[in-house]
Amino acid sequence: MNYDVTIIGGGASGLACAAQLNKSGKNLKICLLDAGDRLGKKLAATGNGQGNISNLEMTAEHFHGGNTALVEKIACGDPYEGAKIFSCLFSADEKGRVYPAGRQASALVDDLMNSLKDSSIDIFTGERVEKIKNSKDGFEVCRSGGQVIKTKIIVLCVGGKAQKQFKTDGSSYALATSLGHTLTPLYPSLVQLKTETSHIKTLKGIRVDCKISAFYGEKLLNAVRGDVIFTDYGVSGNAVFSISSCVADKQGVTLSIEFLPDFSFDEIEKSIALHKKAGYERSELLSGTLHNQVGRAVIKRAGTDSPSIITQTLKNFILPVLGTLGFDYAQVTKGGINMNEVTDELESKLVKNLFFAGEVLDVDGDCGGYNLQWAFTSGQHVANAVLKRI
Ligand SMILES: Cc1cc2nc3c(=O)[nH]c(=O)nc-3n(C[C@H](O)[C@H](O)[C@H](O)COP(=O)(O)OP(=O)(O)OC[C@H]3O[C@@H](n4cnc5c(N)ncnc54)[C@H](O)[C@@H]3O)c2cc1C
Repeated sequence: MNYDVTIIGGGASGLACAAQLNKSGKNLKICLLDAGDRLGKKLAATGNGQGNISNLEMTAEHFHGGNTALVEKIACGDPYEGAKIFSCLFSADEKGRVYPAGRQASALVDDLMNSLKDSSIDIFTGERVEKIKNSKDGFEVCRSGGQVIKTKIIVLCVGGKAQKQFKTDGSSYALATSLGHTLTPLYPSLVQLKTETSHIKTLKGIRVDCKISAFYGEKLLNAVRGDVIFTDYGVSGNAVFSISSCVADKQGVTLSIEFLPDFSFDEIEKSIALHKKAGYERSELLSGTLHNQVGRAVIKRAGTDSPSIITQTLKNFILPVLGTLGFDYAQVTKGGINMNEVTDELESKLVKNLFFAGEVLDVDGDCGGYNLQWAFTSGQHVANAVLKRI
């Protein structure tokens, strides 16, 4: 079979690309292939099943990887740019995170599938593309069953290496590297962190709102306010996910947790002194101020009943990072196809008519809707470039 466009990967970026091509009304022969048994399986699992697709604070600082100027151009114009491909309504929560108003990520997949329902796009699931061959007349796409399809244009939307249960195990980068592309180093990002645990052993399962800072030697890498959840291997939670993107590619990073970030040193010290005066046991000096178990762990670590030293420990609770939980637990991949090898249209500079969208590229965003905004806007951006080409 001969196609004008073949989209490989029916996740967030591939579906957005297909929907945008379909919207054009041009009579194109399009094929969409996905290795999974259903399209958009990862998309349906995003945002704890609620689909955090964007963020009102859509600025370039929230993206990492190559050519952030281009990423800014594509993804940062309008926080609702990615959402334009959908017909449902969206709303933001108090932290600026944008969700479908019904708060169901699966509805995003339904919405995109509906928009493709009456299209002439050939959709194949359970079809892993094993190889792409480039020839003078276009490409040959070798499918898992051994069949070959011919196509003029390819859009590679195969995602990264995070969470292989979604058929994203990193093996599909080879489709691009076999055509001459190179990868920047790959790391798990938006992932739980393994830390030294001796001071947090009693805190398993406790969630606290705090400020968490990551230091590489003396250098502050990033500081984030949000939830930290203590675990038997280290720390998890939104704030940890956010900070992990600057930690994953380094060794010897130290986390500093500031409990009670809304209170000044003096206020906390004074409250501890008042407790002391009232005759509280040493281990209870933070009672009522901090979660009891966390308070006890802080005081034990301080090793004294001095209000000043307890406050210092509470404001700077150090946890050396030992690693991450790895790609199987990460939400995204840091690194990917080198952005120096693609044009502003996200077309390969090495192979004409080969385009890329989404996480397969060396672009990763912070926690909070940035990765889906990139997937949706880059998918639509490439579709627009393809429409100009044909
Ligand atoms: C649990 C979880 C929660 C997340 N929550 C959020 C969130 O709330 N907000 C946010 O912004 N981001 C979130 N993310 C990240 C976001 O889901 C991804 O960044 C985004 O899905 C990337 O889109 P993509 O199209 O590039 O890749 P994917 O959505 O991963 O899609 C890639 C597709 O390619 C297919 N594929 C791979 N190789 C082949 C091949 N050789 N042949 C055919 N098909 C192939 C796969 O089956 C898959 O369907 C979350 C990620 C996870 C894992």
